Amino acid sequence: MKFELAKKDNWSYYRFPELEAEGVVHGFFTRASPSLEPYGKDGRAFLDAFALRRFVAMKQEHGDAIHVIRDGEKAASGDGIIVIEKNVAGVIKTADCLPVIIAAPGLPMAAIVHAGWRGTAVKITGKAVQKMAELGAAREGLVVLMGPSIGPCCYEVKEDVASIFLKKGFTERVFHKAGEATYLDIREANRELLRREGVTKIYDAGLCTYCSDGLFASYRRGEKGSRQINFVSLRG
Ligand SMILES: [Zn+2]
Repeated sequence: MKFELAKKDNWSYYRFPELEAEGVVHGFFTRASPSLEPYGKDGRAFLDAFALRRFVAMKQEHGDAIHVIRDGEKAASGDGIIVIEKNVAGVIKTADCLPVIIAAPGLPMAAIVHAGWRGTAVKITGKAVQKMAELGAAREGLVVLMGPSIGPCCYEVKEDVASIFLKKGFTERVFHKAGEATYLDIREANRELLRREGVTKIYDAGLCTYCSDGLFASYRRGEKGSRQINFVSLRG
């Protein structure tokens, strides 16, 4: 089971074909895609390309607020979206932070989460699984996709970040040392959160936004204004 690079109109994105076959439409866009501004012309083109009715994007806050989109709801701010309403895309923008998609095959339910180090430290991915379980999903059936993020190869952090993670109950495995430097593995930290919630089907695209040769925008590389789009939706 592998991620593949796909193209639809002007949108270039990574997807996981097995999930698409289950009716979970999704994508982790590359920077070659148009930017996506709510209600702008790119927004319309995005909806048309993926046959969507509308999308929900939020002001992201690096917190743990998760919204459920069931019946026409909007979400002003937060970092997680659970879609139940068909043909509505939950959208997360990233530029080094980890986008996580959680699907519940067989159920009309899928989540997308914005997990940077702050969101991961407050366990947003684990909270998304808890909320999906409350809504009726079986944890062991959940399928998780980890999209492009800054990788353990490039994510140097200071001791204060490392000590926050250890205090919050993450293991030493989420870090490695190279000389004096400490590197955080944000994907491993999220795997720890997911495993603790009983999730085992976790697929990592293995794409580093920082060192992937310009395929993605990277905040750390100095692109403070650019972000890529990630989305999930349920085919009606
Ligand atoms: Zn890297």
